[in-house]
Amino acid sequence: MNFKDYIRVIPDFPQAGISFKDITTLLNQGEVYRSAIDELKAMVQHLKIDVIAGPEARGFVVGAPLAYALGVGFTPIRKSGKLPYETIEVGYDLEYGKDKLAMHIDAIEKGQNVLIADDLLATGGTIATSVNLVRQLGGNVVGAAFMIELADLNGRDKLQDIDVFTLMNYE
Ligand code: 5GP
Repeated sequence: MNFKDYIRVIPDFPQAGISFKDITTLLNQGEVYRSAIDELKAMVQHLKIDVIAGPEARGFVVGAPLAYALGVGFTPIRKSGKLPYETIEVGYDLEYGKDKLAMHIDAIEKGQNVLIADDLLATGGTIATSVNLVRQLGGNVVGAAFMIELADLNGRDKLQDIDVFTLMNYE
């Protein structure tokens, strides 16, 4: 299946010069969504994953069904202030300003194998921060899975020691 046929590219969103990859047009096609998750599953199922961690919000849309398909747990990575129990937080730079991502302190048991999942790898800032959080909790990051990679933004450079799995690549 050519998944790119189902991605809607929106020029100049959310700001001039950005070509936004809209995945909602893939998600709303049941067979295509299922095929995308099945294909990611085939790519990562050799990894002995214990838990999948996904950053809000689109990381939930990829990570949770992948966890279900693999029969492993899912844990959310959220913006600061959203998780109800005790958290650890890591700050990161956005294009304009800063933000923080958080996880529950008991979201991962020490030594568990964790796959990180999101919809799209751009500069890698979100995933590098997610890796940092998982490692602080004692998790062993065994890979990172995405529907889309924007290769020109060199996100993989921030994930040098981590295996990256993607369905679609945009130059
Ligand atoms: P990064 O931190 O790698 O620069 O950006 C990736 C994050 O921003 C992901 O969580 C992703 O959801 C979001 N993102 C950035 N650009 C796009 C885009 O073109 N399409 C979608 N669907 N998400 C994007």
